[in-house]
Amino acid sequence: MSALRQGDIFAAGAERLQMTDSIELTIQSLQAYGADHPHWGIAWSGGKDSSATLSLIMWLIDTGKIPAPQTLTVFYADTRQELPPLAIAAQQIMDELEERGVRVEVVTAPLDKRFMVYILGRGVPPPNNNTLRWCTRQIKIDPMTAALEQRLRELDGNVLMITGVRQGESAIRDKRIEMSCGKDGAECGQGWYQKVLPEAKGLKGRLATLAPLLHWRVCHVWEWLKHWAPLAEFGDWSTVTIADAYGGDEAEEINARTGCTGCPLASEDKALDTILLNPTWSYLEPMKRIKPLWRELREPRHRLRKAGVERLKDGSIAANPQRMGPILLESRLMALEQLLTIQAEINNAAKRLGRPQVDMINTEEEARIRELIAAETWPDGWNGDEPIATTPLDKVFEDGSVQPLLFLEVPDV
Ligand code: SF4
Repeated sequence: MSALRQGDIFAAGAERLQMTDSIELTIQSLQAYGADHPHWGIAWSGGKDSSATLSLIMWLIDTGKIPAPQTLTVFYADTRQELPPLAIAAQQIMDELEERGVRVEVVTAPLDKRFMVYILGRGVPPPNNNTLRWCTRQIKIDPMTAALEQRLRELDGNVLMITGVRQGESAIRDKRIEMSCGKDGAECGQGWYQKVLPEAKGLKGRLATLAPLLHWRVCHVWEWLKHWAPLAEFGDWSTVTIADAYGGDEAEEINARTGCTGCPLASEDKALDTILLNPTWSYLEPMKRIKPLWRELREPRHRLRKAGVERLKDGSIAANPQRMGPILLESRLMALEQLLTIQAEINNAAKRLGRPQVDMINTEEEARIRELIAAETWPDGWNGDEPIATTPLDKVFEDGSVQPLLFLEVPDV
């Protein structure tokens, strides 16, 4: 289904939607598109928009406001990078779903593709906004595609994948869905699910996506999570923790983006900063050191660089000569030790305070990272004997011409 058609339904909505109007438009969109699909899936990340979507749909089904599909599968995207209060709330909600007999699948990337293992074991630099945003596809989209493919093999008929993409009234005004998740308040990955999944190999033609909260204003999301969904009449969901994790009553003003702890792409750690203001979570303070660590690992002193002209398999010259590449083995070990220290500091405090512990790098992941480092594993196209990126080199241009090094610092003798 195109975003435009969904937008057409919402175009009927008033400019300043009231909560009940917002819910009514959600019902209309689910009635209009849900009936064509015998099977529904919900792409849920534990963030505010997808949690509001999930709990609202469950309530609408339970109360007969929308007809139940033949099957409903909730896909929880567990990146292993979630903020601890959100991960805990997600677990509670999963328990509540399972108590009702709802099928929940936890979707996690394979061990070698997980964020920590890929960076520290394989040496791929942390993502950034400019050149390398491998993370969303690898830890969210690809595992979700694989889980859906598997589910589709078990089902006859098409699947409607419901996402938590939300844009407020601009969705009605602009009649198109903006997929960016870099903006404040957005939930990383939801826009990608909306856009990429229907085109994914193995899903094409059998899967459509719908964003039934597209038109919701952020204040309605908070209102739902904090004051409606926790009430017995709306399903008794454990969503207060999610609203509180984002700043409780001030959550709307803070409007933090949902994503990984220490996301290198976000300009600030807004959600973590907000959580740390709450005395019950302040023992997570060492997590503030994660984001600077990712930034540090992108520095030339921790990385290799291609020295000269790089020939591709077809003989052509690679663009971007002398590009910086993977992280040095010793830098990966340094970062691993720092992350394990952060984890140990938090967990020691948690034990002392009787609070939940964190699971940033588990023993399986640590062992795999150490194994990959010991085996001197490098990303494709690198073998580890390239120079460190701080080494002065002759300049190589994109056409392959070389300008010799003009000035070389001679060490004092
Ligand atoms: S939250 Fe940040 S690190 Fe996590 S997948 Fe999204 S962009 Fe990547």
